[in-house]
Amino acid sequence: MADDLFLKIINREIPADIVYETDEILAFRDISPKAPVHILIIPKEHIKTINDLEAGHAEMIGKLFLAAAEIAAKEGIAENGYRVVMNCNQHGGQAVYHIHLHLLGGRQMGWPPG
Ligand code: AMP
Repeated sequence: MADDLFLKIINREIPADIVYETDEILAFRDISPKAPVHILIIPKEHIKTINDLEAGHAEMIGKLFLAAAEIAAKEGIAENGYRVVMNCNQHGGQAVYHIHLHLLGGRQMGWPPG
């Protein structure tokens, strides 16, 4: 947990461009954006991967998606559309082991992902 980068952002130990915050959730702009809008939406609770989720987390996971829709509207990308992605472990491309929902928009997304 000590090496959890996103916990350091939650605790304001390292800076981030925060766009949304509640008691449970924080959202901030990705430092290396892959789209004109690229925001990471995270629970404040330390959860390493999707594989570590428990039934008690269900409501919080729902709130991550509600936050994504609210932020997308604020960013002006809701109508054209956007993508939300949560990567898990090595094959999923996860680099930071504190679950986070990527909100990507502002350009056409390709499918399938590479
Ligand atoms: P993932 O590969 O799904 O674990 O995504 C991790 C994301 O965190 C990447 O898109 C990084 O660009 C982003 N990231 C890493 N460090 C920071 C940071 N200090 N502030 C904001 N975003 C970051």
